[in-house]
Amino acid sequence: MRQSENISLKNYNTFGIDIRADHLFEIEKEEDLLMLDPTIFINKWMVLGGGSNVLFGSDYHGTVLWMNNKGKQVVKETITDVIVEVAAGEVWHDFVMWTIDKGYNGLENLSLIPGNVGASPMQNIGAYGVEIKDCFAYLHAYSIETGKIETFNFEDCAFGYRESVFKNKLKDKYIITTVAYRLKKEANLQLSYGAIQSVLSDMGIVHPKARDVSNAVIRIRQSKLPDPAKLGNAGSFFKNPIISQQTFLPIKEKFPNIVHYQLENGHIKLAAGWLIDQAGWKGKKVGACGIHVNQALILVNYGAAKGEDIMNLSKLIREDVFNKFGVELHCEVNFVMD
Ligand SMILES: Cc1cc2nc3c(=O)[nH]c(=O)nc-3n(C[C@H](O)[C@H](O)[C@H](O)COP(=O)(O)OP(=O)(O)OC[C@H]3O[C@@H](n4cnc5c(N)ncnc54)[C@H](O)[C@@H]3O)c2cc1C
Repeated sequence: MRQSENISLKNYNTFGIDIRADHLFEIEKEEDLLMLDPTIFINKWMVLGGGSNVLFGSDYHGTVLWMNNKGKQVVKETITDVIVEVAAGEVWHDFVMWTIDKGYNGLENLSLIPGNVGASPMQNIGAYGVEIKDCFAYLHAYSIETGKIETFNFEDCAFGYRESVFKNKLKDKYIITTVAYRLKKEANLQLSYGAIQSVLSDMGIVHPKARDVSNAVIRIRQSKLPDPAKLGNAGSFFKNPIISQQTFLPIKEKFPNIVHYQLENGHIKLAAGWLIDQAGWKGKKVGACGIHVNQALILVNYGAAKGEDIMNLSKLIREDVFNKFGVELHCEVNFVMD
């Protein structure tokens, strides 16, 4: 296990915020966690994967456990399914590409989501009509309390829209070390969401396979989303608000064009990007940060922004949207404050 002191985290977070951490431990295998001095957890500590869903507010005076354990293997195979166990430190997109190469279906719509496998259950990552919960089998996690590895099945994880038990009731109590996915040998492609169908026809594909869907998703994402390697960002900064019919009706009366989706449980999901755009924030630059010109949901770092600048900007946007629409925006990005 490699250790660094007083290290810059600029290359460990996709916002590119240049803050320093007192200690960084690189976890290369599950056993590294079992060997850790438990007193680490008495003081300040946090887990970091690819750093694509965090915003650091200031220098971090504690220990960062950077998950970089590797490995993936099929642990069970039936006529129809495989179960693949994959280490938390594997890069998510590389894992998705590996499943497609092997002919395992289910994760193709989740191509090119930044970050590592270990964080995928944290907020039940999702895109283009699929969430990881649709293929999730189980996970292994290190318990801070007992110092042992425990198994969590689907029911234990309380997955929801960009939610899981690990972001709520069990926040900071477990470190995910391995995630297992149940994948299908026969494809059951989800093509109805977003522009997948039209991109596939542009590509001249009539009978798509998982790889074609993945290629279409990659093409759409590359045309729409800023590449963090070129422009610091953490993807969608806010979650799409979910409100009751009762709250929705007067808003709809005032803003008849409001973008919304009817959910199965009767609630309404609003498009946070639309609300922010209508409030006039899209493309605005405030100091060294701003709102992306094409995607109102994405806050960007033009180079020298501090985490505090981005936090303040997000606060202004939330207040403005609340004053205009009476709708509260919740952050998808995890704030790390010292
Ligand atoms: C351009 C862009 C596009 C994006 N698009 C999407 C999208 O389409 N859908 C989507 O859902 N997300 C999207 N995201 C957000 C992000 O990619 C995901 O949330 C991803 O899963 C974060 O992974 P990470 O390894 O970078 O996590 P990190 O940012 O390192 O960590 C995120 C949180 O999880 C915790 N954590 C990380 N690893 C572990 C672990 N092993 N055990 C316990 N806790 C852990 C951290 O402490 C932190 O609180 C996007 C981000 C970017 C930059």
